[in-house]
Amino acid sequence: MARARLTIDLDAIAANWRALDARSGPDVETAAVVKADAYGLGVARVAPALAAAGARSFFVAIAEEGATLRDLLGPGPAIYVFSGMMPGDEPLFAAHDLVPCLNSPAQVANFLRELPDRPFALQLDSGMNRLGLEPADLSAVAAVLDGVAPVLVISHLACADEPGHAQNAGQLRAFRTMLGGLPETPASLAATGGILLGPDYHFAMTRPGIGLYGGLPFAGARPVVRLSLPVIQVREVAPGETVGYGAAWVAAGRRRIATVSAGYADGLIRRIGAGRPALFAGDVPCPLVGRVSMDLITVDVTGLAEVPARLDILNPHQGIDALADAAGTIGYEILTALGDRYERVYTGADPAGPAGP
Ligand SMILES: *Cc1c(COP(=O)(O)O)cnc(C)c1O
Repeated sequence: MARARLTIDLDAIAANWRALDARSGPDVETAAVVKADAYGLGVARVAPALAAAGARSFFVAIAEEGATLRDLLGPGPAIYVFSGMMPGDEPLFAAHDLVPCLNSPAQVANFLRELPDRPFALQLDSGMNRLGLEPADLSAVAAVLDGVAPVLVISHLACADEPGHAQNAGQLRAFRTMLGGLPETPASLAATGGILLGPDYHFAMTRPGIGLYGGLPFAGARPVVRLSLPVIQVREVAPGETVGYGAAWVAAGRRRIATVSAGYADGLIRRIGAGRPALFAGDVPCPLVGRVSMDLITVDVTGLAEVPARLDILNPHQGIDALADAAGTIGYEILTALGDRYERVYTGADPAGPAGP
């Protein structure tokens, strides 16, 4: 079988949620961000595992993700949609009991007109300038909100992965100032990075995403994914022979080269090759050589007495952030790029989930 295997540890995701919940403090609710198919790991298995661990509020990016999530979780958990309510999405919000994070005066006006009796949240811009109401918008909206209150008010930090960055304290101040006009409403500012900045940033609810999935800035996260690539073929190359497209790698001596099954079409982006990460035979690192192809990667296995059936490109020795470093990107992008050609194997307790593959 030439299909690469992506193993996703649901117990590790649950443990990471509990660890971030513990850091969020006793009076703070810890939600779970499961946008983009739970960062590429499969919302159908991940969300029920998080609900079983104790998460009661979930965040997604768009209404369609919220509708899918409601079908998975059933009634009960709160589902918030970061992008707010876009025109045409009204039936999805009503039918699937979704709560929009309204981002502009126009979104607020449209929501109050179309779904006047339904709950909503507000997103405020505290300095990231991506989504959310500006202070002047909030004042304008406050007049319209007479008698109707949001169930939650959120904002997002631009630099929370850099604890020393001055923008963190600046956004905290700006958020607090804007919250002065909404004293009764539960508030939420912190994603994974914000949780680690400490209690000042926690407010009523935290919203971790990447930390659940084993990524930085949560350095204490348990690794969640293992990616094992089957070896298709092993060959000897003589000094001066080249490997792969562009003849970009030249053997300095006699080498043994293994060709494994996965490539940039599987999210192992071509730039990974530039950073020369390792593939692992158990605990033994073997350098990636040559360029990453669409479906294939070449590996120098000269150091191995015996070439195993599979080599790991993600494992406890080399996590998503190490692989991301090799490619000049971030762990988030490595995860969400992982393709749909993998055999996906879920391990760990998942009582509420559908049957495994
Ligand atoms: C993606 C996202 C999160 C989660 O961020 P992580 O860094 O993955 O923890 C929280 N809030 C908002 C608004 C987001 O877009």
